[in-house]
Amino acid sequence: MVHFVGAGPGAPDLITLRAAELLARAGMVVYAGSLVNPALLERVPTGCEIHNSASMTLDEVVEKLAEGVSLGLVTVRLHTGDPSLYGAIREQMDALRERGIPFDVTPGVSSFCAAAAALEAEFTLPGVSQTLILSRMEGRTPVPERESVRSLAAHGASMVFFLSTGLIEELCSELKAGGCAPDTKAALVYKASWPDEQTLRGTLDTLPALAAEAGIRKTALVLVGDFLGDSYELSRLYSPEFSHEYRKGKS
Ligand code: SAH
Repeated sequence: MVHFVGAGPGAPDLITLRAAELLARAGMVVYAGSLVNPALLERVPTGCEIHNSASMTLDEVVEKLAEGVSLGLVTVRLHTGDPSLYGAIREQMDALRERGIPFDVTPGVSSFCAAAAALEAEFTLPGVSQTLILSRMEGRTPVPERESVRSLAAHGASMVFFLSTGLIEELCSELKAGGCAPDTKAALVYKASWPDEQTLRGTLDTLPALAAEAGIRKTALVLVGDFLGDSYELSRLYSPEFSHEYRKGKS
């Protein structure tokens, strides 16, 4: 059995209990390059084989995982954040399926959650936005035209951009071209939950220069939307007048 495991955003204690337990039993760990905090690898027992997948191809990764399973080792494929986001796990799962190797998936705390925590922000504010868009600028991986940043901008929703900090200038221009006001609030969170975490706050007009000044080009998320501003409506859930299943409202 191969265990795909979310390592969380970086802080070694932002890993799930299930993930920690799997690491504690691991006989082989194949971890995803530079974004997995090496401190997490201290959880594995002595003698555990550890491989960094940064220099491997898909076939090599799958071969390694298959080897771990054939040796009878608890085999962990460790991905940053949550593996379902930009983790390229589908192709690994399909390759394992083809070989008849069973696997399971343990979710993790994604970096976009850690970024909101760092900013003390809430993505879904009443009266502001009830939708969160997770996307990226097109890089080597193409983005379908119907999901271009420009077209996403039109929704006015809360947005988080992965893998796009190196293109922050273009990202902010595209958002403006799509209809976001130049003074739309925008923030950058570098290495959310790591000891060297940094947060920058600005607008679509000012954020690229702030990022350049701070020398941040990767390992960061760009967050955009009015949820970063000061106005919102109070929630109905905790409103004294509002009745629901668990509480009678006062009139
Ligand atoms: N599966 C991961 C994302 C992997 S893609 C997750 O759920 O978070 C890699 C991108 O994620 C990076 O380019 C960066 O944009 C973002 N990222 C990952 N960890 C981060 C962190 N701790 N702080 C800020 N951004 C991070």
